[in-house]
Amino acid sequence: MMGGKGLIAAAQVFVMASCLACSAPNPNIRAHRLPDGSVEVEGPLAGPFQTMEELAEKSCAIMTDQPGASNGAYGSEYCALYYYSRSSDGYFLSYLSDIKNRLDSELKTCVVPSSIDDREHRDAIILGKAHTHPNNRRLSFNDMSVAAHWYPTRAADSETGRVWHRGVMLFYREKTGGCSAYLYDNVTRLVMALRGGKWVAIGKAYDEKGNVEMLKGMDWLP
Ligand SMILES: [Zn+2]
Repeated sequence: MMGGKGLIAAAQVFVMASCLACSAPNPNIRAHRLPDGSVEVEGPLAGPFQTMEELAEKSCAIMTDQPGASNGAYGSEYCALYYYSRSSDGYFLSYLSDIKNRLDSELKTCVVPSSIDDREHRDAIILGKAHTHPNNRRLSFNDMSVAAHWYPTRAADSETGRVWHRGVMLFYREKTGGCSAYLYDNVTRLVMALRGGKWVAIGKAYDEKGNVEMLKGMDWLP
């Protein structure tokens, strides 16, 4: 029988061995589950940005640079929120979440965070979800179905009356190194691609499931 000291020594060896195997936690991931099961992220990871285009360009680079974010079939997906703060007059990207509901390898989908904990910007207005796809640049049914819309689909600043359409941003790192950013507008149902620093409409979702029809002469790639 192993004595108390032997057990402690064995436990210490085990802890050391298991920590040699594990990698350091990613400091950009700051998300937790709330008692009701929803996911809250801290913020901001980046910002303020003056325009949504600048937000998308910088967020694309940051999010697809995370470990595994661009590893194809073996990669992992990251989720975040993007939001506006009037007190800072700018757009922000929250910290990231990699929390999933299921651990199977096929569905990499991370849970959409539903709230933000940003003590510097208590006036944060959540405008939508930002996420990466490790293995394809197309928005999925999970992203574009009517059920996946963020309700209400419009967000308003009660002081100024300014209104935004809520949406989903998708970021994908091309094999050639470029970063492709897309935005699906929950109100117009248009799919936009960031090209030369401007949003260009390339398609439109036309049914409840989220099937998309490409606009004339447009595709996911320029
Ligand atoms: Zn997606």
